[in-house]
Amino acid sequence: LTIHAATLSSRKWADRAPAGWLLARAFIGEGRASASWSDDELIAASTRDFAVTLGLRGTPVLTRVARYRHAMPHYTVGHLDRVAAASVALAETPQVVLAGGAYRGVGLPDCIAQGRAAAARLAQRLGGTADPNGPEPPAGGDASETTLRELPVGTVASVAAIAPKHVRELAVEGVGPGTEVAVLGRAPLGGPLVVRAGRARIAVPRGISEGVTVRTSSEPPA
Ligand SMILES: Cc1cc2nc3c(=O)[nH]c(=O)nc-3n(C[C@H](O)[C@H](O)[C@H](O)COP(=O)(O)OP(=O)(O)OC[C@H]3O[C@@H](n4cnc5c(N)ncnc54)[C@H](O)[C@@H]3O)c2cc1C
Repeated sequence: LTIHAATLSSRKWADRAPAGWLLARAFIGEGRASASWSDDELIAASTRDFAVTLGLRGTPVLTRVARYRHAMPHYTVGHLDRVAAASVALAETPQVVLAGGAYRGVGLPDCIAQGRAAAARLAQRLGGTADPNGPEPPAGGDASETTLRELPVGTVASVAAIAPKHVRELAVEGVGPGTEVAVLGRAPLGGPLVVRAGRARIAVPRGISEGVTVRTSSEPPA
């Protein structure tokens, strides 16, 4: 395949295409095509890949090509190690934290989670809370609570509570109150979290990860 990913936009959002028509979006990134490809070549490759993967036949009635140069980070092997090194280097400047698509996931849910975590961390360092009307930061040592979903990659925490509807699913994976967990990575575009739980490595859907409250014993790295 040439395409990296696709969105069936008119299935995802209403009114993107008239009834009976499909609006589909294909992503083609560096590595599988060249920036020098013409619009016609990109359209032909996308149409071919939609035929191969989804069985879509015929010629599109409308096509648009948008080129976003250098818009999407392409992580390479060792990326998380470099992010960790950058976080360590920033330890001396606690007023600066890293967040965004360049660091721990390019999907919007990842970016939102990183932004929230960064804001909460800065607010904590400034001695307040992220929301002036929100709860006070947890008392007692450096312990703080968040959800598994918002836990920064690499931070070790222990499970404090699990929403009742997810207790069984997680018990099957050997996860319960007190289990030591660390997020190893997040699949892009809303995919599952890769989590180390005890000595096992498991995939946790985002929806479930929201229902898991975890407690970190020290401040997470930036
Ligand atoms: C074409 C395309 C389609 C995508 N589709 C999806 C999708 O369907 N679902 C999904 O989950 N993700 C999607 N993504 C990925 C997602 O949109 C990005 O990864 C995410 O928006 C990145 O967020 P960010 O906050 O890190 O950076 P940005 O959203 O790029 O925000 C950075 C901001 O900083 C500003 N800025 C830059 N330099 C300066 C400066 N010197 N001073 C002040 N401000 C500055 C910029 O103007 C910008 O507003 C898509 C990305 C692209 C390119």
